[in-house]
Amino acid sequence: MYDREHDYTEFRSLQASVYLKFPGICSIRGFTVNIWTNERIELVDITEEVKSEVIKSGIVNGICVVSTSHTTTAIILNENETGLRHDILDFLEKLIPLSAGYQHDRIDNNADAHLKAVMLGSSETIPVMGGELVLGAWQHIFFVELDGPRQRTVNITLVNQQKYY
Ligand code: ZN
Repeated sequence: MYDREHDYTEFRSLQASVYLKFPGICSIRGFTVNIWTNERIELVDITEEVKSEVIKSGIVNGICVVSTSHTTTAIILNENETGLRHDILDFLEKLIPLSAGYQHDRIDNNADAHLKAVMLGSSETIPVMGGELVLGAWQHIFFVELDGPRQRTVNITLVNQQKYY
């Protein structure tokens, strides 16, 4: 308990010193992108949509956070190869099969989707340098539908470093 409080105090003082020396050091902008999924479980490559928002925003150096607000979807980074996309979905189905006696299925028949979402995570953080997302040659950004088909919303939050004059 003491350590947690100590860490928090250090974080606050660091934050305060940054703001005192460099007021207006960053700006934050948020966007949402609507997606219509077609399958119950599906990988949707949203790399181009995110890149397009990064370009439109004018961000130069900073951080891009891609997140989902839904409890039965996820965001992942990986390769967009047809076989691998099937492998990822097959792996998820094997690991967390449908209707395996989950308690949540008593009120909402989608416990497996929630569990898959917990395992994959609801966001990815990608650096932005020189106006471009810093992604490896094979890295794509996927929205993972786990209980579709539905209309879904992806949040893109951009933290942009500002010059201080
Ligand atoms: Zn549910």
